[in-house]
Amino acid sequence: MTVYSNPGTPGALVTFKPRYENWIGGEWVKPVKGQYFEDISPVNGKPFAEVARGTAEDIELALDAAHRAAPAWGKTSSTERAAVLNRIADIIDANLELLSVAETWENGKPVRETLNADIPLCSDHFRYFASAIRAQDGDHAELNGDMVSYQFHEPLGVVGQIIPWNFPLLMAVWKLAPALAAGNAIVLKPAEQTPVSILVLIDLIGDVLPPGVLNIVNGFGIEAGKPLASSSRIRKIAFTGETSTGRLIMQYASANIIPSTMELGGKSPNIFFSDVAQEKDAFYDKAQEGFVLFAFNQGEVCTAPSRALLQKPIYDDFLSDAVERTRTVIQGNPLDTATQVGAQSSNDQLEKILSYIDIGKKEGATLALGGERVDLGGDLSGGYYVEPTIFEGHNKMGLFQEEIFGPVLAVTSFTDYDDAISIANDTLYGLGAGVWSRNGNIAYRAGRDIQAGRVWVNNYHAYPAGASFGGYKSSGIGRENNKLALTAYQQTKNLLVSY
Ligand code: NAD
Repeated sequence: MTVYSNPGTPGALVTFKPRYENWIGGEWVKPVKGQYFEDISPVNGKPFAEVARGTAEDIELALDAAHRAAPAWGKTSSTERAAVLNRIADIIDANLELLSVAETWENGKPVRETLNADIPLCSDHFRYFASAIRAQDGDHAELNGDMVSYQFHEPLGVVGQIIPWNFPLLMAVWKLAPALAAGNAIVLKPAEQTPVSILVLIDLIGDVLPPGVLNIVNGFGIEAGKPLASSSRIRKIAFTGETSTGRLIMQYASANIIPSTMELGGKSPNIFFSDVAQEKDAFYDKAQEGFVLFAFNQGEVCTAPSRALLQKPIYDDFLSDAVERTRTVIQGNPLDTATQVGAQSSNDQLEKILSYIDIGKKEGATLALGGERVDLGGDLSGGYYVEPTIFEGHNKMGLFQEEIFGPVLAVTSFTDYDDAISIANDTLYGLGAGVWSRNGNIAYRAGRDIQAGRVWVNNYHAYPAGASFGGYKSSGIGRENNKLALTAYQQTKNLLVSY
């Protein structure tokens, strides 16, 4: 096991700059209004860097740079762009530990997640889209005997991207990789809670892309995100964040008929059918692990399995085993590779989670585990830690309907197949779901009947490049992570030629 040193301390792998600017036109640019905000590490609750506080003026500068760069970048061949994406992937792999520690320090998630999942997935997504753009075919058809119809993919031009704080680098890459592969120039606004890890990446890859192809403007939602989404100078806005914010962004973009991709919130059901417990074997063990995943990444996952549905005959025993297993999860210093649950991303997030725990108690849910803030002592006592928490109740409760975005699980029971599907679908959301059953017929049917863009069957929480990802209902519009994302960053040109 390794415990990485805090950034900036002697022997540390990462030393942040004291101040980060915006990245515009291939260089660091001070914010027009000269204002900065503090970036706070949730690991210890202390500020570690200042970051440019961008406004509409900075967004305009970034759009100028993107418009200068877009025509030439859009005309590069798919082979050239694929080579650039593969080069970025190589650089990410070569800096795995550095990027993992930076991401963990800024976001609070355990370094075992960033080392083993987040950062490797970043390079893999660049490689996937490098291959996907090279493999993309056009289309043609002979029409009316003397006419041929050709379909071409063209880049959109300049696109805007706005991302959240829960997987800061991976959320950026999910958007950057397809947009770059398709030949677009980009203005991206990171979340104000976690702007720095993408800027650390820019320090590594900044000169791999032509100046102006990728521009980053930091800042807050209303001050920097709104002018970007409202601009008539973008051809698309791609957003990941809360459903309520997505609604606003669609309104801003509609004024200019700008299409949007929306990756929004979730309240994902994780369904355990009785046959799971017919033997306490390896399958049972895996299902128990799948239950406990609600606590991983501190529950700050859009597809966190935040509602567990247990079939009545196994409810008591399965839950009691799962509660015991959750007690053994290691919560601690996020920079320790043994740690499984780290810090919530910000103080606001911590307060929000604690208030939901209060709401759960007031609405009569039964607390089966946790429910308290955790003080890890020493250096970490200012950090934002919450116990993995399990409530029992029913699906009409706020705990079951609202996205808490913390390690708080709501558990209920169901009678039969129809009851399970009805409870699972009784939500505004439709992002992810889990189904656990030894019976292939039940698992397949449930997978098809649940209204969600991603259903994990007898597993949970894998995000391989190539598997489409996105929401039904209020969880979003559009798909990321597979070739569908490419066409969402492209115009279709039809050339109708007589001969
Ligand atoms: P958020 O909506 O508060 O903020 C997301 C981004 O939008 C930030 O960059 C923020 O500055 C910006 N923003 C806020 N208000 C804005 C406005 N009026 N105009 C323009 N930009 C604005 O979300 P969050 O709290 O950062 O992230 C958590 C949410 O993200 C959760 O709901 C989670 O489910 C969702 N999420 C979804 C996915 C997915 O793929 N579906 C993935 C990760 C997170």
